[in-house]
Amino acid sequence: MKPENTMVENRISSFISQCKDLGIKVTPQRVAIYRELANTDQHPSAESIYQKIRNYYPNISLTTIYRTLETFEKLGLVSVVNILYNAARYDANLEPHHHLVCVACKKVEDYYDNSLMNLDISKSNLANYKVLGYTIQLNGICRDCRKKKS
Ligand SMILES: [Zn+2]
Ligand SMILES: [Zn+2]
Repeated sequence: MKPENTMVENRISSFISQCKDLGIKVTPQRVAIYRELANTDQHPSAESIYQKIRNYYPNISLTTIYRTLETFEKLGLVSVVNILYNAARYDANLEPHHHLVCVACKKVEDYYDNSLMNLDISKSNLANYKVLGYTIQLNGICRDCRKKKS
């Protein structure tokens, strides 16, 4: 499911105001990179954002995309989904949520499950470690890949 237009526009305007608060320049290129990310729920890699952006910014380099996404991540404007044996995948959705990762096609889907939101971490053996949050990654075979096999 692609994010709705209003959702995308909301993400972009809050991105722009956060950049201003953080004192980072809001360049058209940065907005374009963020827009590509805000516009999808596919958790794209830097490479696939590059393939799209090249169509209208022919001079942009893959390195610029990597660096920009790294900057966004350091500033907490986007998050990174680490998946098995693959390049970093980026996510503009900063609401707490989990991920389903297909080990066959490497598709990353958002996964919401309230029972996973309330794990009693305090009962585990994390002495003196302050937990700020967590994301659960469920690895498996997606519906499409299962269909292909059978
Ligand atoms: Zn799959
Ligand atoms: Zn996600």
